[in-house]
Amino acid sequence: MMARAKTKKDLKSLDKPALEEFLMRNEGIPSFRAGQLLHWMYKKNVASIEEITEFSKNLRESLSQKAFISTLKVKETLSSTDGTQKYLFELEDGNFVESVLIPSDEDQEADEKAQTKTSRLTLCISSQVGCTVGCRFCLTGRLGFIRDLEAWEIVEQVLSVQRLIAPRQITNIVFMGMGEPLNNLENVAVALERLTEFAHFSKRRITLSTAGIVPSIMELPGKAPMVNLAVSLNAATDETRSLIMPINRRYGISSLMQALRQFPLARRGRITFEYVLLGGINDSVADARRLVKLLHGIPSKVNLIPFNRHEGTDFRTPPVQSVLAFQKTLTDSGCTAIIRKSKGADILAACGQLKAKYEPKK
Ligand code: SAH
Ligand code: SF4
Repeated sequence: MMARAKTKKDLKSLDKPALEEFLMRNEGIPSFRAGQLLHWMYKKNVASIEEITEFSKNLRESLSQKAFISTLKVKETLSSTDGTQKYLFELEDGNFVESVLIPSDEDQEADEKAQTKTSRLTLCISSQVGCTVGCRFCLTGRLGFIRDLEAWEIVEQVLSVQRLIAPRQITNIVFMGMGEPLNNLENVAVALERLTEFAHFSKRRITLSTAGIVPSIMELPGKAPMVNLAVSLNAATDETRSLIMPINRRYGISSLMQALRQFPLARRGRITFEYVLLGGINDSVADARRLVKLLHGIPSKVNLIPFNRHEGTDFRTPPVQSVLAFQKTLTDSGCTAIIRKSKGADILAACGQLKAKYEPKK
């Protein structure tokens, strides 16, 4: 693929105007063909030019001489007993990233009032190989940072998995795999544009999760389509947060909350706060009370995630009673708080718990 990439144009690296230009220059064909090509690549999800049957055989052959449609190589697929599936992708430079497909039938936010249950198929995708942020409880953080993913590598996780699971459909996308999406904002913004404009994913069904990179949170609304925002808060005091998330020494809780108060939300939109519960560290009722105070005035909901234990860490998963007491303190104060069951634990597939078992290539 490397040799091919050097001589031929990757059609997934082009936006619409660039694609129009490429087709006109190389094939002399009008611009509406670019729209057709985008539809076949992102909506019909073909893996090769040959499959675009709306184009004549001649056009397909001629185009195949000069261009190709990039796809990611699935190195391994792991299935959990709870229905979660993990996909390990091998990148062209030999690095690996993971995506996790999580089926659930939780109440959809939008359907809460209607009291209906809908089944979701959420794909948790990666934005970087490794991560620079280095949160103490996170396996990806321990891997260190290798590189940013290109926009097409981010989008292609979605398209590749969609190809594999058809006719089932991915309904939701969360940027909660490997990496900090706001530290790769340029590529993530392009990926979001392609997912919403070309692949027609609803913005309301995409969630970007960040450890709280304050300047990028402020830049985000002007740079990328307005998808849901989740913030990994994980502690309600600077002391505790700095202990488990060193990034907090740079962007403390008060500047983070200030940025979030100013963050433009879609109608009825809410910010999701993720809170990994670490036994004896941030899981007391007093912590829950402090959290309630912090969230005051912000349309929000809280995802409580009992720590997923992994090797080489001293952090503990809190007992069920503490998790329930924490949740009760929040809900009694009028906060929406949902306990996220740890899915795919047997295949190390829980979101934020991804770490390729293959050696990274620097
Ligand atoms: N970098 C982004 C997105 C990836 S991490 C962020 O930090 O938000 C996605 C989520 O997984 C974060 O909320 C993180 O706090 C959580 N997480 C990481 N390691 C975990 C673990 N071992 N157990 C439970 N949640 C974890
Ligand atoms: Fe990076 Fe998120 Fe893991 Fe922190 S929790 S190290 S930001 S991936």
